[in-house]
Amino acid sequence: MSELHALFGGTFDPIHFGHLRPVKVLAQQTGLQRVTLLPNNVPPHRPQPEASAAQRVAMLRCAIRDLPLFEIDTRELERDTPSWTVTTLEAWRTERGAEQPLGFIIGQDSLLSLSKWHRWQDLLSLCHLLVCQRPGYPTRFDSPDMQRWLEQHLAQDIRQLHQQPAGHIWLADTPLYDISATEIRRRRHQNQPCDDLLPAAVIDYIDREGLYRD
Ligand code: ATP
Repeated sequence: MSELHALFGGTFDPIHFGHLRPVKVLAQQTGLQRVTLLPNNVPPHRPQPEASAAQRVAMLRCAIRDLPLFEIDTRELERDTPSWTVTTLEAWRTERGAEQPLGFIIGQDSLLSLSKWHRWQDLLSLCHLLVCQRPGYPTRFDSPDMQRWLEQHLAQDIRQLHQQPAGHIWLADTPLYDISATEIRRRRHQNQPCDDLLPAAVIDYIDREGLYRD
């Protein structure tokens, strides 16, 4: 069976250490060799990212320059429709087959709002969900049904992620980073430093492009 691979979707406006560092630890813990960053397309009727799609990709490139774990896939930016994870995963399966063990990485906040995702019930037939902790979010669902669904699918052992192509949820024991892109944009607009929050190469790019300024 081929190696476990993971996709990590996000708006990345901008990418920050709250994305990169937990995923590096997750990869070490699970033996994950490769993570594909999937910047998403935000449909026109939704609040738009401040950075353009090209700028968000450029920031990803700056961030991963020295991190061989990561690569970038811009497929979601290349279509006009909303970024539905389930559609992207189906396309991935068509290309790579049904057998490859595939993870989709999310933060705890995304796990808790998963029932709002398009066709969320289909996700576990396409991938494992690899969940990074995020400070400020409860570890349990409010909804007993969702909590039961979570417990039914929890992986008991890392080997399940490698031996099966999809179907499990892994709650990773990752370090907590109280960082959000919203907070970074807010700090930039108020001329406050962000040095500890994202890679220096991304800050340099933001400065050069004059991003996140009023
Ligand atoms: P924004 O503040 O603009 O909403 P964000 O910082 O939450 O953005 P996204 O690009 O929306 O970043 O997040 C992509 C994915 O990364 C989501 O699954 C989210 O849960 C996860 N994530 C973002 N920040 C963190 C963090 N500090 N710790 C763990 N996971 C995170």
